[in-house]
Amino acid sequence: MLVVMKAQATEEQIGAVCRKIEELGYRAHSMPGAQRTAIGVTGNRGEVEPGTLDEMPGVQELIRVSKPYKLVSRDVKQENTVISFAGSDATFGGPGLALIAGPCAIETREQTMAVAEQVFRGGAQFFRGGAYKPRTSPYSFQGLGELGLQIMAEVRDKFGMKIVTEAIDNESMELVEKYADVIQIGARNMSNFSLLSEVGRAPKPVLLKRGLSSTVEDLLMAAEYIVKEGNSQVILCERGIRTFESATRNTLDLSAVVVVRERSHLPIIVDPSHGTGLSSYVAPMAWAARAAGAHGLLIEVHPAPAEALSDADQSLSFEQFAALMRRLATIPGSAKTT
Ligand code: PEP
Ligand code: MN
Repeated sequence: MLVVMKAQATEEQIGAVCRKIEELGYRAHSMPGAQRTAIGVTGNRGEVEPGTLDEMPGVQELIRVSKPYKLVSRDVKQENTVISFAGSDATFGGPGLALIAGPCAIETREQTMAVAEQVFRGGAQFFRGGAYKPRTSPYSFQGLGELGLQIMAEVRDKFGMKIVTEAIDNESMELVEKYADVIQIGARNMSNFSLLSEVGRAPKPVLLKRGLSSTVEDLLMAAEYIVKEGNSQVILCERGIRTFESATRNTLDLSAVVVVRERSHLPIIVDPSHGTGLSSYVAPMAWAARAAGAHGLLIEVHPAPAEALSDADQSLSFEQFAALMRRLATIPGSAKTT
């Protein structure tokens, strides 16, 4: 259920309604909007028993939210959630394009610095790299761990880009939270509900990737786990799903962008690198993602893609990345034009 406050409701009235909701045994989630504050009510097993909430001062109306996801739904908050960062004008959910780029995995300091310089020049505001890698094979490179995080911290110091990196389990969360500006939850962990709840208690934005066999509704429910714990800074990411199609590594479901934008106020970005699995397909699908309304892109780049320790086939060379940036620059608001 949603309690919609009047536009002129005072902080005291909002506080009193939240306290009343908690007294009734539910959880209150205050969501200030441009026009008015709405308070989401969760924690109920069946219908919320509204008590005397609708008679309280400052309350305009009570609305039942019929969707299984509540706090992430557009029914609950009409305006887009815009996620911004201290010391940066980049946003997720605003009109500009957020560009996250970097290697799949942090392999060495030299490789990382070389990619960082290139993607920074191309206009990336976010640098990504995996320090902990969820690999299909236990014999594949698993990442440098804390050393990888330290190298990314150097990238932030040198170039000012914000760092996006993945926490693969509850154990890696503590270190990732310490170093990252955005905590990535990978496709394989989208249904790891204890990790979702843990990242929901972290004071950093979360990049939540769609699971390999998950529906858009599953993705929104996973985001609900995070927001329910108090962290409303969630960026959704379409990264392709498993289908019978074998010409690409995954099937990049760009319709998810328009569905999410209609159903949720959260920002959505697209990862055409994992979505296609082949470097030559990345640029056209990045372009298509922006046309579909994606708020950002996640692109893998490597100095020598053929030698990459993970995701070699889909990593862009520096030349391919520069060409992509030139192409995106022709879309207003999508990339720096110099
Ligand atoms: C990644 O971003 O490098 C990654 C492992 O992605 P995904 O979880 O989408 O497979
Ligand atoms: Mn990868």
